[in-house]
Amino acid sequence: MPELPEAETIVRGLRRAIVGERVARVEVVHADVLRATPRRLRAEALGRTVEGVARRGKNVLILLDGRRILAVNLGMTGRLLPFPEAPRGAGRPTHPAVRLGFESGSVLVFDDQRRFGTFEIFEADAWAERDARMGPEPLERGFTVARLARDLSASRSPVRSWLLDQRRIAGVGNIYAVEALQRAGIHPLRPADRVTQVEAARLHAAIREVLRAAIRRGGTTIRDYRNAEGGEGAYAAHLRVYGREGEPCPSCGDRVERVVLSNRSAYFCPTCQPLNASTR
Ligand SMILES: [Zn+2]
Repeated sequence: MPELPEAETIVRGLRRAIVGERVARVEVVHADVLRATPRRLRAEALGRTVEGVARRGKNVLILLDGRRILAVNLGMTGRLLPFPEAPRGAGRPTHPAVRLGFESGSVLVFDDQRRFGTFEIFEADAWAERDARMGPEPLERGFTVARLARDLSASRSPVRSWLLDQRRIAGVGNIYAVEALQRAGIHPLRPADRVTQVEAARLHAAIREVLRAAIRRGGTTIRDYRNAEGGEGAYAAHLRVYGREGEPCPSCGDRVERVVLSNRSAYFCPTCQPLNASTR
């Protein structure tokens, strides 16, 4: 499932491909990914020029002139694939949901096999309201150790679940939450308010470290994720515990364990990541 590093990688690829393009056609194949009607999407997007591409949390934002924003959440299996012309043959997207055709003849396809993704158009003020409900961007200055420690101390949720809540931190999903907790030495089931100040500082550094490292590798492809060029991310080989149940912990050699929490697997080392905070 695409998280912050995967969305960021897609944004960088799309900037090269679609900025300056003017929307000439909007084709909706599966309207269930829209939150508006196909008619409204067409009315709002047709004739507008792509002025930029940005990211907020896990969302890819296509900035159009006239203060309109196409916000794409990739869900589980979503892909944003730009093509120099309408693709045919083997390289064709397998499950197109929406196609934007540009005046130049280029095409942007939102492909989503399972269709948990969303493709929405916002007026800038409406997007700002949505944006305000999301937590801080973990790689930006507003995300501080003090803020993380304070927000953790106000919740009794298991810290893995806490990290996945987009209202608390934007862009972190299961893979990077699990990896950051391993680096910080905190058990995924630890109640958030039992994370010590020292651990909160370690967790803050670990979140930034794993996200930055994953961006450098173009994200993590477990199965479905592809970048805007259709390629895979290379960070999967660098995951320390995610998906590695039974393998040795890279820090101590103990066996990595798995626990299911809210239907999502969390992986951890029972030696390096104690359930209770140590008093040292
Ligand atoms: Zn270990």
